[in-house]
Amino acid sequence: MTDIEELFDELEYGPALEDASPAYDWLRQHKNVFGHWIAGKWTTPGRDFKSKNPADGSILAELSQGTKDDVDSAICSARLALSSWQSLSGYQRGQYLYAIARQIQKNSRLFAVLETIDNGKPIRETRDIDVPLAARHFYHHAGWAPLVDKELPGSQPVGVVGQIIPWNFPLLMLAWKVAPALAAGNTVVLKPAEYTSLTALLFAELSYQCGLPKGVLNIVTGDGETGRFLVEHRATDKLAFTGSTEVGREIRKATAGSGKALTLELGGKSPFIVFSDADMDSAVEGVVDGIWFNQGEVCCAGSRLLVQESIAEVFESKVKRRMATLRVGSPLDKAIDMGALVDPIQLRRIQRYVEIGKTEGGICWQSEVDLPEEGCFFPPTLFTGVHSSHTLAREEVFGPVLVLMTFRTHEEATLLANNTRYGLAASIWSENINLALDVASRLETGVVWINSTNQFDAASGFGGYRESGFGREGGLEGLWAYRRAKEDLLPDEKSSSRLFEKKQYPKSSKTLDRTRKMYIGGKQVRPDGGYSRSVIGYSGELLGEVGEGNRKDIRNAVEAAKSASRWSKIGAHERAQVLYFLAENLEARSEEFAKCLATSTGISGQQEVQSSVRRLFSYASWCDKFEGIVHQAPAGQIVLALPEPIGVFGIICPEESALLAMVSLLSPAIAMGNTVVLVPSEGCPLAATDFYQVLATSDVPAGVVNIVTGSKSSLAPVLAEHDDVDAIWCAEHVELGQIIEKLSVGNLKQTWITKGSRNWADSNIGEGREFLRRATQVKNLWVPYGE
Ligand code: NAD
Repeated sequence: MTDIEELFDELEYGPALEDASPAYDWLRQHKNVFGHWIAGKWTTPGRDFKSKNPADGSILAELSQGTKDDVDSAICSARLALSSWQSLSGYQRGQYLYAIARQIQKNSRLFAVLETIDNGKPIRETRDIDVPLAARHFYHHAGWAPLVDKELPGSQPVGVVGQIIPWNFPLLMLAWKVAPALAAGNTVVLKPAEYTSLTALLFAELSYQCGLPKGVLNIVTGDGETGRFLVEHRATDKLAFTGSTEVGREIRKATAGSGKALTLELGGKSPFIVFSDADMDSAVEGVVDGIWFNQGEVCCAGSRLLVQESIAEVFESKVKRRMATLRVGSPLDKAIDMGALVDPIQLRRIQRYVEIGKTEGGICWQSEVDLPEEGCFFPPTLFTGVHSSHTLAREEVFGPVLVLMTFRTHEEATLLANNTRYGLAASIWSENINLALDVASRLETGVVWINSTNQFDAASGFGGYRESGFGREGGLEGLWAYRRAKEDLLPDEKSSSRLFEKKQYPKSSKTLDRTRKMYIGGKQVRPDGGYSRSVIGYSGELLGEVGEGNRKDIRNAVEAAKSASRWSKIGAHERAQVLYFLAENLEARSEEFAKCLATSTGISGQQEVQSSVRRLFSYASWCDKFEGIVHQAPAGQIVLALPEPIGVFGIICPEESALLAMVSLLSPAIAMGNTVVLVPSEGCPLAATDFYQVLATSDVPAGVVNIVTGSKSSLAPVLAEHDDVDAIWCAEHVELGQIIEKLSVGNLKQTWITKGSRNWADSNIGEGREFLRRATQVKNLWVPYGE
């Protein structure tokens, strides 16, 4: 017999398996065969694929591969249910969500076990994290349903929403998507990942036991092909996708110009930064949670461990010592730390990455854990000797593989952390709150955890910067993603193009002396190509000439805008002063601008100039008033939702209200700290070229606003393709919007294709929070407090 003292030394203990029979019973009730859940009932099972338990390869169920027709009937069902769902009061909708939350809690053990056998994640995690958090999302949004109309004024539900989710948190991702969508008054068609559909099917069945009206939630199972049918279907109003950046790009392309709202929650390569003054033992536990939670199959996994050089050796040995104690084994065992990877494909992918890591010169260290003989298991893995250029430092492995790199100064830490195309999350460990907050403010990520990691809550938004996608899930900011401004329905196809058609823009010879120059980097510059175009007045007379901008001019303008990024760092009050000054200076020249507009349009320009002055004044006021919020996070955490500038904006102005529309688009963007490359109206570009004289005399730093005149259809694509442009607004006709959205996939820039023909003079339509929200992205900063 084992000596008790020996046991205390070794801390060895036997397996403590959770009883999985409730899940197997549920599967048997369905004869282990499932159709889709459409219009409140099961469809007859179709062409099937198998759902397997990754821990032992056994087949759990046969599921139906969704066809085009299946997707079509699910969308029809959601469409049919939409008006009656919306005719319910918010309170009534909230009651359904509340009942669903209770239903999840009542069946929490069944959900946890089913998720564990389907996905391979430890029962400890499904039981204590996935399922409780899923219920929390429904409770939270049950509360939003009656509030949403009042608290999100000027907005309406988007309509029918298509949702596609990955396999790493199947039930939780469903909750993140379905709860806000229903609370905001939409109906849903959701496609779970092909490896892990079972909890979504159980969820559908149980929701309808709560009396959820048929068609409000529909589930279609299948792989990427089914996902593509859902993406390509014309009758959805929004798509919400969580998954890989590659598929996110495809979806962006496929939906370009469709007017569908789109949110993308994509991959990451998140930094986990440990400073020399960190509480090292806590940070080591943080590492375990950051990379080995859920087998590392976490979009925001802290997969790049950046450690200050002075403590690197000690910290590495502590991490290794801790790795040796991690247990990998049956996911149903309540005492294990890591379960099985989701599928042999994922196992092979990780093995491949590890081989590449070794070939590129990285040093691989794996703890000597006992792995089960069969099933998709992989040990916790640490790579040292990795350089920034190595594949493992750049690409998302999506598994339990950590790379350790070192830095000396906090400047270097920030540079290393931001040295990635992604921008999902980051974790900072330091006992110096000053240092931690400073680094947090410089990180280009949607979430920052200080002295903690992998914190989630329904009240807080989650989502990425850069190629980690756009849009947020959770909290107030996530709710906005399921509403649409009433004015922001599809831009009407003909409005702006009317003016395009009416006027002729003859190419003129190189009469450069009479040409109004462009404005780049704070200087008036001649067009690179040396060509100009004539500007014809309302009565047909020649008003002057403007430069015919080309690709090179746009590139120069983007470079100037990028190098003016300090604008985002100056205080809001200072930015406000500049905008007030702009308003003052425009007012001082109002006669001149009114005349310019009148000769172009034949209508007195007085009112438009006055409205433009007021708009500048208004956004000057907003500079220090568009604030973040403090989320009601779990006890012991302060979560700050901070609106931050997005970066370099491309703005394509409409033909209507040449001065007012330009000012209405430009001023919220710069008020929030972005820099801009602006392509003005073609019919009335002189309002813009005269405006740069106002810019030049109003203390606007060089490069903050750049104006390139010329053909919008030639210049907009160059902006859309440019990887240093972070967002594009286009208040123009549909065709140009489609081109812009298609070309924006390179760096997944945020796009806003909106109506150019809106009534810009109406301050309820032409200005306000909608513009400011679109000019910013929210960073959620988690700061713990207490012992
Ligand atoms: P994936 O992109 O391969 O698949 C995600 C989903 O999209 C699945 O349901 C899949 O069937 C579907 N799909 C695949 N091809 C499609 C297509 N052409 N059109 C429409 N749908 C298609 O990703 P995955 O391997 O399931 O998940 C891992 C990825 O998800 C990782 O990159 C991870 O970082 C990311 N992820 C991100 C978040 C987040 O919140 N940012 C959360 C979880 C996972």
